[in-house]
Amino acid sequence: MSFDKVIMVDWSGGNDRGASPKKDAIWACISSAGTAEEPIYLRNRQLAEAWLIDTLKTLQSAGHRVLVGFDLCFAYPTGFATKLVGSEDTLALWDWFEARVRDDPKSNNRFDLAGEINTLFPGTGPFWFNGLSRDIAHLPRKGLDRTNDHGLSDKRAADKAIPGSFSPWQLAGAGAVGGQVIMGLPVLSRLRKRFGNSLSVWPFQTPDTQIVLAETYFSMLPDLVADDPHPIKDASQVSLYARAFSALAFPDLAKMMDVKATSEGWVLGAEHADILRNALAGPPPLRNDCFAMPQGAHWTPVAEAHQHLRERLTCVVGTEVLPLQEAAGRLLAQNVQAARSHPPAPNAAVDGYGFAGPAAEGISRLKLVEGRSAAGTPYDGIVPSGHAIRILTGANLPKGVDTVVLQEDVGTTNAEVSFHGPLKRGANARNAGEDMQAGQTILQAERKITAADLGMLAAAGVGSVTVHKPLRVGVLSTGDELREPGDAATTGEIYDANRPMLCALLASWGYQVVDLGRAPDDRDTLRGILDSAASQCDAILSSGGASAGDEDHMSALLADTGSSALWRIAMKPGRPLALGLWENTPVFGLPGNPVAAMVCTLIFAAPSLGVMAGGRWQEPTRYHLPAAFTKTKKTGRREYLRARIEEGQVTIFPSEGSGRVSGLSWATGLVELSDPAQKIAPGDLVTYIPFNSF
Ligand code: AMP
Ligand code: MG
Repeated sequence: MSFDKVIMVDWSGGNDRGASPKKDAIWACISSAGTAEEPIYLRNRQLAEAWLIDTLKTLQSAGHRVLVGFDLCFAYPTGFATKLVGSEDTLALWDWFEARVRDDPKSNNRFDLAGEINTLFPGTGPFWFNGLSRDIAHLPRKGLDRTNDHGLSDKRAADKAIPGSFSPWQLAGAGAVGGQVIMGLPVLSRLRKRFGNSLSVWPFQTPDTQIVLAETYFSMLPDLVADDPHPIKDASQVSLYARAFSALAFPDLAKMMDVKATSEGWVLGAEHADILRNALAGPPPLRNDCFAMPQGAHWTPVAEAHQHLRERLTCVVGTEVLPLQEAAGRLLAQNVQAARSHPPAPNAAVDGYGFAGPAAEGISRLKLVEGRSAAGTPYDGIVPSGHAIRILTGANLPKGVDTVVLQEDVGTTNAEVSFHGPLKRGANARNAGEDMQAGQTILQAERKITAADLGMLAAAGVGSVTVHKPLRVGVLSTGDELREPGDAATTGEIYDANRPMLCALLASWGYQVVDLGRAPDDRDTLRGILDSAASQCDAILSSGGASAGDEDHMSALLADTGSSALWRIAMKPGRPLALGLWENTPVFGLPGNPVAAMVCTLIFAAPSLGVMAGGRWQEPTRYHLPAAFTKTKKTGRREYLRARIEEGQVTIFPSEGSGRVSGLSWATGLVELSDPAQKIAPGDLVTYIPFNSF
């Protein structure tokens, strides 16, 4: 049921509004994954209908699933349809209006038609408020002129659930919606006919088609609309709601759509304004195609796989403000400016005597003023020319002082100091702001905060920073053969080596690790584990079952979601990597072999998780060092060898077997051999990547 495109339409019952964008006209906005395009001004209904058909045709042929929301009642209170079409068939009622409404940009028959409908009911009938200057038969001008014996409710159940909503019977007057409903239903009816079985109308039909129409309401988030910079409110509304609906996580939209269908319909989002608000507050979810690698016979080079991920992955975590003491290791969500200059005032760099410089060549004698300037207790007075003052490291320079002579370089009596010049003006003194200026950007967003950063931030007067919330990463091992380390095991069983290794690796990168335990080779059990993991984690690393064999349930399950790809990567160790979204949560289906699981985590998960956590795509630091080994490699794939540095040279683990987990422990990093064939002899420069640079 998830949609990759959302269109929001603000409808209007009035005539053509002219060429330049105006309020109370029709506005529309297209959004995907929480990012909206510019709102579109549609001056009249004819243009709006043509635009909708055109846009939907284009999106449909490009294979998109589109949710179209209209701020327009899709139905009337119970009983109305039966009177007009003989049953409570709302969609038949749309066709009834379609057959009778006359509409052109300058005039339409909505008031006359409402008057005619009124004659079918007792008393004055339900419709009221003639907004025209001419009288209309059977249409009361004001509320007072009408009788209430037509037997219909003033509002639908959905309208009653929304504070401040209007009755569809009121055709004109400030805030009235009745006119635009009569003028909207024929357009909806024609859209249904135009798109046939590809289109359904929620909640009257099951919303499982490529295009789904739904009624919504644009006054659920008034404060956010007011904050939007667009000068025209209707434009702000379509843009905000398009963003919100397209940013909804799949389960949230499913929850909103899960209503009992009656002929009165429902308003999408009614009673769920909080969910829409949350969708706007957090970062947009990942695109459904973020792992959709072009499939085919060829093996994807590592560089190409990297580029694919880099272009599609985005930050998935929200932000919080933390005091400095808690911010180490977090990723900055905003640039940080110095709150004040550092140093805040000119001060002494050494212990000594301050005076007005420079001092000429030869002996200088200066009279000592009484008192001193120390760090934290500056001297308030002025130091007259020809005088000096005792000053300590870090103390502010008093007025009249710009130079300090080192205490070891002077002779002192009670009354004066003497020293050998020359001494430049400003010697041994620090200028205000020479390190950092107030207002200067000192750290950029996306940086991982280091211990040294905390020192700098504190010095610059910054007490708290806006950082990303920690990325929650789940770790799961799969396979019937796995046992918990330390437990008894038969010879057919092996210990789960991947989970403790991957959990510790992720924790060292600053992520919040969620231990998802072990899963058997059973599809239903695995499905249940993924369901609950997706709600607790921002990303999942699973190992085992990622290939295309009988017991490779992880890749099979991910393949069913439609968001996944089995990545055949031209890399050793590695091979099949199953990537997919499980209810919007990315799953990295790693190979089961511990060496391959580790290398795939370092090469693919590390940079991907960094971006999802709010950082940059980060390449590890590569060193070029002489090899202490001989190796011949084939063309067409990248290879990673377990390696360590011995006496400035790169040594490799004697076996390349990817089940040899002891080699991972022996190694301090990896040798990276590029795709072409090559022969490496001792002394050749090779690329070495230390583990701690990932
Ligand atoms: P699979 O990818 O499930 O076919 O597993 C490939 C190999 O890795 C098999 O020999 C598995 O027994 C082994 N293996 C899978 N998961 C783990 C694990 N968590 N710890 C150690 N070995 C594993
Ligand atoms: Mg397995």
